[in-house]
Formats: sequence, C-alpha cells, structure tokens
Amino acid sequence: MAHLRFRYVFSLGVVAASLACQTSPAKEAVPTHGIDVAGMDRTVAPGDDFNAYANGGWLKATAIPAEKATIGAFDLLADRVRQQTSDLIQGLAQTANAGGDAQKIGDFYTTYMDEAAIEAKGIAPLTPKLEAIAAITTKPALARAIGETLRADVDPLNATNFQTEHLFGVFVSQGLNDPSRNYPYLLQGGLGLPDRDYYLSPSPQMNELRTKYKALVKTLFELAKVSDAAARAARVFALETKMAHAHATRLESQDVHTPLTWSRTELAAKAPGLDWSALLDGASLGSAQTFVVWHPKATTGLAALVSSEPLDAWKDWLTFHAINESGAMLPKAFVDARFEFYGKALTGAEAMRPRWKRGVDLTSAALGDAVGKAYVAKYFPPETKAKVEAMVRNLVQAFNARIDALTWMTPDTKVKAKAKVATLKVGVGYPDTWRDYSSLNIVKGDAFGNIDRADLFEYKHQLAKLSAPPDKGEWWMTPQTVNAVNLPLQNALNFPAAILQPPFFDAQASAAYNYGSMGAVIGHEISHSFDDQGSQFDADGRLANWWTPDDFAHFKAAGEALAKQYDAYKPFPDLALNGHQVLSENIADVAGLAAAFDAYRASLKGAAAPEFQGFTGDQQFFISFGQSWRTKYREPALRQQIATDGHAPDEYRADTVRNLDAWYTAFSIPAGQKLALSEKERVKVW
Ligand SMILES: [Zn+2]
Repeated sequence: MAHLRFRYVFSLGVVAASLACQTSPAKEAVPTHGIDVAGMDRTVAPGDDFNAYANGGWLKATAIPAEKATIGAFDLLADRVRQQTSDLIQGLAQTANAGGDAQKIGDFYTTYMDEAAIEAKGIAPLTPKLEAIAAITTKPALARAIGETLRADVDPLNATNFQTEHLFGVFVSQGLNDPSRNYPYLLQGGLGLPDRDYYLSPSPQMNELRTKYKALVKTLFELAKVSDAAARAARVFALETKMAHAHATRLESQDVHTPLTWSRTELAAKAPGLDWSALLDGASLGSAQTFVVWHPKATTGLAALVSSEPLDAWKDWLTFHAINESGAMLPKAFVDARFEFYGKALTGAEAMRPRWKRGVDLTSAALGDAVGKAYVAKYFPPETKAKVEAMVRNLVQAFNARIDALTWMTPDTKVKAKAKVATLKVGVGYPDTWRDYSSLNIVKGDAFGNIDRADLFEYKHQLAKLSAPPDKGEWWMTPQTVNAVNLPLQNALNFPAAILQPPFFDAQASAAYNYGSMGAVIGHEISHSFDDQGSQFDADGRLANWWTPDDFAHFKAAGEALAKQYDAYKPFPDLALNGHQVLSENIADVAGLAAAFDAYRASLKGAAAPEFQGFTGDQQFFISFGQSWRTKYREPALRQQIATDGHAPDEYRADTVRNLDAWYTAFSIPAGQKLALSEKERVKVW
C-alpha cells in the first residue's frame, strides 16, 4: 500500500489520542436486517447530498452523547462490543483463583476498578520513576533513561499510528527491502500534543490548545508535587516546540521512500549529539545492528536537541511524560486534569466515560489476545467465519476480474498485480495462534505496575521477533477490535471478529445490504494492496517497483484526480481536506466499493435482487454503504481528524458513490446535481 498509513477502515486517530478519555453510551439501533429506511431523508436528492439522503433522519434524531467526541455506526458497534467484553471480563473477575489468563484478566480489571485503593496510594507508585529521573547527572545517563522509556507503540504501515510521547517509537517487522528478516524501525516522537502542527500552526484554535496544554503540564507537575511547576512546564513546552520543528509532517510520514536503513555506526554518524549506545542499551536494543529509520531528518534533529538543550530541560520533559503516560492509573485528580485537556479540549467530549468502560478498554489492550480468545469463543460463531470467508473469496475474484478488464494496464503489470492478489493472506475473526501471557505478571492491587508491566511485555514480545523469521500470519488488531486492516509488509489482511456483526455484517440481511457494508470494507482492505502506497510493495511485501513506467503514470494520474476531488471538500471556512493526505484511503474506498458492487452482482447469479421497502437491490447496496459511514463529530474532533488522520471525514467517504457509474443508474442521477460528475470526471482507479 501506498503510504503506509491508515491502512485500516476507520479512523483511530481521535480515539487513540485519548485512550483514557474515550466515551461511549448510545442507544442500540433496532435491528431491521436491512437498510435503515427511517434513518434516511428522502426529501434530499441523492445526487445533491448522498450522505444526507442516506442518513438525514438519523443525523437529525441523534445527539452526540456527552462522553463522546463522535457518534456513528462505528461507535455504536464499538459500544456493543465493549458491553460484550465487559460481560465477559466481569464473569472472569468473579471467578476467584481461576488461574491462567482468566485470573490475569479478572485481576487486572478489578484492580483498576478499585478506585479507593488507587486514591489511597496517591503518587507513591510514581515516585521511584521520578526519583530515578531526578538522579540523572550526565547526558549518557539521560540517553540511557530515554532508551528505557521506548516501547512498541507506533506503526507506520498497518494500523498506522505515528504518535508517541517517547522520544522515539519502535516498530518491529520485516525490512522494507528485505522480507527475509525482521528489523527494528525507529520513528520520531516526544510530543504530548497530537502532531507538530499543534505547536507550529498560527491558527487561533491551535493557539488556544497550546495555552491549555501548557496549563495541563503545569497542573500535572503540581499534582505530582514536583517543585517549580510553572518554570518546568515552560521548559517542557519550549523543548517540545523545538522537537516539533524537527518533526516530519503528517504527509511526509506517509512517504515510504523516506525511511533509510542505518547501521549503529551510521546512527551515531548521521544523528550525532545523542549517545546511541547508551540509548539502545536502555531500550534493550543493545544487540541490534541495523535499523529502519523512518524519519531520518527528524532523528538527526532530535538527536541534536539532546546535545544542544540543557540537561534540566530534558529531565523536566522526562518527568512530565512519566506522569502523563501513567495518568490513567493515578488518583482522580490526575485523571480529571488529563480529561480536561485530552478529552474536552482536544476532542470536544463533555463528560468522562464511566470507569467501567475505561477499565474494559485498558484490560482489552493490556491482555489483547487473552481477552480476544474468550471473546471469540463466546461471540463469534463458526458459521459467521465461513460466510465472511466466502464473501472475501468473492471480493478477491471480483478484484481479479477488474484487473483483467483494465484497458490501460499492460499484460506484464497485470500478471504481477494478480500474483499479489493470489498470495494475499486473509485472516478472518482471529489469529491462528494465540499470544502466551504466562510470563506477564499481573498483581492484584497494583494498577500502576500492571499497566507498566503489560506495556513492557508487549515491547519484549516485539523485540523477540528480531531473532525469529517474519510471520505472514501475524495479527495487528485484536479480535475484539471494531475495524479491519491491510498489512503491506505481510501482504495480508485482518478482519477481526468484532466488526463481523450488524450493522456491518448481518447474516439475516440481503446480499445487497451485506456487500454494501461489509463487502465494501473487505474490498477497501484488499484495495489497500493497490493504493498509491500499497501498490509500491510486491507480492513478498518488499518495497519494489513492479510497474511499467506507463502503467504507473496512468495510475498516478487517476490518483491525482481523486486527490483533487477531496481537496475541494471544505468542512470549515478556514479548513479544507488535504487530498493527498487522505488519498490512499480514498483509492481504497473507490476501488473497494467498485469490487464490492461487482461481487454483489455476481452473488445474485443472474437472479433479480429482492426489493426491500420499495428499494431495489442496487439502491440498497449504495444506501447500506452510505449508512455504514453515518457519523456526527464534535468540531475539535473533526479538526483533529483533518489534521492528523489519513481518513477523510465520514460524510465524504459516503460520497465515494459519485465515482461509480452504477450509482447514477441506480438512482437516476441527473447531470447538474451537486455530486454528479461527468463520466470523464469519475475516478476509476481499478
Ligand atoms: Zn483503509
């Protein structure tokens, strides 16, 4: 896939930035086993505003719950999954001395839920970390301490995540140019705000957020009883602003041709100022010899700052992030302060989610596979797996047929494209093998230590891959995640169990309905293998150009046209979409929807599609697609998505339909309506 960013379906940026501050309740839609006709607005012409036509009734009737930054099909299903997961976890929590994973899940959750015990401990669990930072007296010791904070908390290629408040993020996968073995990838980091733009943009919104962020830094210092809170906060912010100047932009981060492979010697030579040996030792990477440096310029810039900025500023920075990243496991005052900023200010959420929801999410993240194994056993019937696997086969076939039918592509390139489809490894529901948690120590009564050990356990698991061959069957999402993902280095897809339920997949609904929603999701993920970035990886997951120059030029031109289409969307008078930042996702949307439509038609085997409440099969297909993108955003959340995310806001994703000829026929769209494109203007990438 093209750039490696958001290869998944749903934007996670806003959610990920506020793990401790998500929200959730919401009314459950009454299942209709088909499109939601009451949720439409049939006074709107589909050709003028397809999102309003498909979702207008729902948009009018739905308020964003106080604890949420967005509400939509995705959030509602995520709520249901959280409830399912909660039932499961609470069941395990009540089984005393269950042993094994069940015991760990139960202990992790109940320990987090014991707010009184967390309150009673105060900042005591944090103290050893802060004392260790205070004792640093030299730059090599600083480098080692920075190294000790590194974790496997970024992912430039799969479930794309470029944010870490550690100075660098680590990702472990096969080499960009070498599928034979795994490498440690190093990514830029160090910021407490979501992106460099938040430090550097002159816009009034960003300025206000900066003021509030500085206040948060000061407040957390005060709560942790660190002296000179105001002065330290100013130093932290000044240092992070310098880091932001060194950082690559969001768009630059997506360029798979920027990363360089550096040896240890090259790291020291090309990024001087930082004692790399000390840092890598601290990061348990002492024996690694070669690194994929994702952001070479930023790595050089950040290393130089370690040398040029005073030791005390760095110690303040380490101290603040030690407090900030542990916030969820500290007393209420810390949690509240962080919610004021990361929840309210950054996403617009008005109220914190109830503690049990946060507890379920934290448990589900810390013990992902253990919870996933139990989730699948309880909520994912083998029949669903079989049905979805059949849909995947049909989508793959449809995509292959589309490659065959391309008039602009040379036979040579077609052979290579089809080889890539043929070797695609598709995972449905859950991984073939489960993670072993026996060496993870979950201690009853130690909430702070539990999450620390879980993060370290995950990091060690990733580092252990450095001495093992790459595994094409590795999963990058847990089964209880409502999402799906394309893995360009593995040439593989994951469709977690949690998304394979209504409204995305409903075994009792029509083919038109299921192909319009889940089929389009499957098509989207397959298409990521052929988006502007995915198309640059070959069947082995190697970054290699398998295109003829003419074919690639044609493909690029189609992408440019699509980028322009999205550049024209302007959610706010002062803010338009960046068509190139969201291009990979939009190529995947257009190509995936086209393949899903073909697969849906093929599934009818020539029979007429059944009508549903007066809508033809083709109409149901497109309405189902539009309804899977129904979402309401709070303004800060929408602005954050536009600034930091590879996905266009959902209403524009619903408008993908305007590029398909079949949509014009299904709704008799006349020329001149707002979304209507001439045949020439419709972008057909695949
Ligand atoms: Zn995607």
